Amino acid sequence: MPTQLEHARDGTVTDAMQRVADRENRDPEFVREQVADGQVVIPANHHHDALDPMGIGRELATKVNANIGNSETTGGLDEELEKLHTAVHFGADTVMDLSTGDNLDEIRTANVDHSPVPVGTVPIYEAVTRVDDVVDITADLLLDVVEKQAEQGVDYMTLHAGVLAEHLPLTDGRTTGIVSRGGSILAQWMEEHGEQNPLFTHYDELCEILREHDVTISLGDGLRPGSLADASDDAQFAELDTLGDLTRRAWDHGVQVMVEGPGHVPMDEIRENVERQQEVCDGAPFYVLGPLVTDVAPGYDHITSSIGATEAARAGAAMLCYVTPKEHLGLPDAEDVREGMAAYRIAAHAGDVANDLPGARDWDDAVSEARYNFDWERQFDLSLDPERAQDYHDQTLPGDNYKDARFCSMCGVEFCSMRIDQDARAIENDDAETDASEDSESAGMTGLTGSTDLDTSAAAEVNLPPTGTHDDADLPEESPVDHSQASGDDD
Ligand code: SF4
Repeated sequence: MPTQLEHARDGTVTDAMQRVADRENRDPEFVREQVADGQVVIPANHHHDALDPMGIGRELATKVNANIGNSETTGGLDEELEKLHTAVHFGADTVMDLSTGDNLDEIRTANVDHSPVPVGTVPIYEAVTRVDDVVDITADLLLDVVEKQAEQGVDYMTLHAGVLAEHLPLTDGRTTGIVSRGGSILAQWMEEHGEQNPLFTHYDELCEILREHDVTISLGDGLRPGSLADASDDAQFAELDTLGDLTRRAWDHGVQVMVEGPGHVPMDEIRENVERQQEVCDGAPFYVLGPLVTDVAPGYDHITSSIGATEAARAGAAMLCYVTPKEHLGLPDAEDVREGMAAYRIAAHAGDVANDLPGARDWDDAVSEARYNFDWERQFDLSLDPERAQDYHDQTLPGDNYKDARFCSMCGVEFCSMRIDQDARAIENDDAETDASEDSESAGMTGLTGSTDLDTSAAAEVNLPPTGTHDDADLPEESPVDHSQASGDDD
């Protein structure tokens, strides 16, 4: 069966492309052309029956990935499905199952069976669990794991095929060495064997397996910087050059491909990083981890990274991998997932507004109009996190009578500027009527005109409320005991 890329090259608009066009409010032919040119990927394994297809590309709305999965110490099947629900509920466009604990096959297949969003994995994690020592990993084992996961319906896989033996000395002198889990595993393997990265030497075989099932490659950046000090260094860009070559080789095989990026990058270097990836990789979608724009705020890295993610989205990144407040510190819980998803949905949307995507700002305008009109219920309903918005409002003014009050507790009734503005305009309007009856001119303020209709918006689904765009009805309810692996430095 052809891949989406092969269909697109043949001129065929598939059902998946049509669905992406509907969700993005774009012409199906535009989506087909973008897929054919490798500018958009539609991760959609032939075996993933529960999938609601989505697209990732610079010209589409910016997407957000959430990492889930168990570890050696946490995460049974039910708990993992709860994580999936939590991520989707709060708006994840894709999820990556980074499980490294028990029951990997059971959890992975359950995730695929239940997930309406594409499921990604990092196959080398499973390979590590199947040997006593990293040095025992073989190329055959890697191929075996990739083939099995492809048959299980995984939609995209991170392959750190661009970490080459000759790149490793370039990391000498770094402040934080190699922080990618996959990159560090492969570096150790290459050092022990004195051989080239098996994911690189067997790349064509891997591509053929992935083509058969239409698994999208997510080319991992195993040498990404783990600190501002290491950003944009020779090791990072040497690997990027290899990723450009591997992108074109995947396309030659008819395989869809996106490229992963940093990590930790000072604000003033983010645009350069995105533009360099786009040039080196011929416009293949860029999937970035943050990046964090400062290293000084452990406990707040969902904020430090969402600032960088916003800039990356603005510069052309296609998908953002969320970071939670627990980054660098511990395993996130459900509240951390919520905080991380909110931070990243904001980053993605802010990038789309700044890039003037069709209709992207309509949501902002609708919220602003509800706010000015003191339509509190509508403001809550349209909020990125309605529950949070109402909870914060009601902490000080809980009564129903405050739901149409012309103030909140922030400024109080006396100093509510929007109430004062409305009153001033009412005065001006009264004066204007009087002046008109006296045949004189009025130069005062007039009424406001905002009346955004979200039902007719040209915005993509992800830029319209509710925040979670996928149907999560068939998934277990989220639970306060939820846990999730969500480390930007860990794939
Ligand atoms: S009181 Fe202040 S914050 Fe509250 S609605 Fe009025 S202007 Fe806005």
